[in-house]
Amino acid sequence: MSPADRERYSRQILFPGIGEQGQTRLLASHVVIVGCGALGSFHAEALARAGVGRLTVVDRDYVEPSNLQRQWLFDESDAAASLPKAVAAEKALARVNSGVAVTGVVADLNPSNVDELLAAADLVLDGTDNFETRYLMNDYCVSRRLPWIYGAAVGSYGLTMPILPGTGPCFRCVYPEPPPGLQPSCETAGVLGSITAAVAAIQVACALKWIATGALEARITTLNLWDGGVRQVDAPARDPDCPACGKGEFPYLNGERTAPISLCGRNAVHIHERHRPLDLHALKLKLSPLGEVRANEFGLRFFCQPYEMTIFPDGRAIVKGTTDPGLARSLYARFIGA
Ligand SMILES: [Zn+2]
Repeated sequence: MSPADRERYSRQILFPGIGEQGQTRLLASHVVIVGCGALGSFHAEALARAGVGRLTVVDRDYVEPSNLQRQWLFDESDAAASLPKAVAAEKALARVNSGVAVTGVVADLNPSNVDELLAAADLVLDGTDNFETRYLMNDYCVSRRLPWIYGAAVGSYGLTMPILPGTGPCFRCVYPEPPPGLQPSCETAGVLGSITAAVAAIQVACALKWIATGALEARITTLNLWDGGVRQVDAPARDPDCPACGKGEFPYLNGERTAPISLCGRNAVHIHERHRPLDLHALKLKLSPLGEVRANEFGLRFFCQPYEMTIFPDGRAIVKGTTDPGLARSLYARFIGA
């Protein structure tokens, strides 16, 4: 370790749980953060400060003013420029710690790119807000014996659980099937910035412990920062009949169980099954006579009242103003092409 690193990380090295050996391991490690919202932006900044040598930040969305209340890494200029979160994160993290190699990836984690994005990881952090992506991560991580750390928060309540394939239960041991119906989300039920920070901080501590020592307890932590109550319980035993870690069935990874269109939990539909590059400049010329168009190198926003479409270079789109997948698909077909 260089003298500069020894000084920079001195307070963490003094902590007996990490020490110089643990810090050396952190500097040599690669963490992939899936989702860079409230949880993921906290993970990214905390791990960059802690000196995790390589970070990959995967996010499909762009910065909006309503993110700024809890998404630490972003500021008003990112929202004004509608920067993709992965791009804004990469820029901000370079200022936090220039010694960390950060790669921001503007993408939706799906069965066709999960191997490319997660294969090189030593550990994966869950910064997502949906079950679909978590089941995919679980399938991938269980099949590769890669640890990942689940985290979720809504309102003033949150929970975390490390998933350590081979030793502890996996996500599907605890949640065999996605919960039915629409779940409360930050967009419908609101969320405190402090609960997302608390959940993310616990996930980060788990990540540091695992990387620095190679040991971690599979405990479920639940906390409610408004009504009180912080609880830690041992995770349940592995379910021998678990489809993923028991039987080795990975339908989310094989793409058998992924929905072509998912709701974002707000008045919007995300169309993510179109994997084809789009020429945004040509699209801007085509759409400009039909409504207001704002474009930058990362995406294009098209206002067709009462709807608003954000179109990404990889062919994905977020259609705001409706929760009807059929309508969103028809708007996509009408304005972008089938
Ligand atoms: Zn399992």
